[in-house]
Amino acid sequence: MPFSLPDLPFEKTALEPFISAETLDFHHGKHHATYVNNLNGLVAGKPEASMTLEQVIMSSDGAVFNNAAQVWNHTFYWHCVKKDGGGLPTGALAEAIDRDFGSFDAFVKEFTAAALGQFGSGWAWLVFDNGKLKVTKTANADLPMKHGQVALLTIDVWEHAYYVDYRNARGKYIETFLAKLVNWDFVAANLAKAV
Ligand code: FE
Repeated sequence: MPFSLPDLPFEKTALEPFISAETLDFHHGKHHATYVNNLNGLVAGKPEASMTLEQVIMSSDGAVFNNAAQVWNHTFYWHCVKKDGGGLPTGALAEAIDRDFGSFDAFVKEFTAAALGQFGSGWAWLVFDNGKLKVTKTANADLPMKHGQVALLTIDVWEHAYYVDYRNARGKYIETFLAKLVNWDFVAANLAKAV
């Protein structure tokens, strides 16, 4: 099988009480795993089977794209969160946020609005685009690399990401993600690679 499900970069209970082991059992063990299995089934015996995941994403559409992009999105999302995360970014990342949004609070407002405003399933992002940080949102499996942008941070706002722990309260999930879970070191490393 050309593509495999990466392990979570933390223990399954590490994000409790904010994201439960039950959510991770389903979100990583079922949803993410299913995208990997679907992708392997779709590319079996085809040229895509010997491509990197990024090459598949950039060269495909339809079901192959949807499953490949969801494999990438989820792997990226797991690295965007950590135990004892949240708080404030520092260093060059904090400076870039101040420069491009005016303040950290203004960034939080914009990111929250994007994540809340994504109608139905999708993702909100902090991206690096033409030398600037921007907040974007994408529907379903769509992702920044398909738009020439570099992903720095994402939040999964598909209901499967939060329904077990937050029911329909997407806003509470977004607030908790920013306050308690974001792995700013990962975001800063992504920015350092992008500039
Ligand atoms: Fe998801």
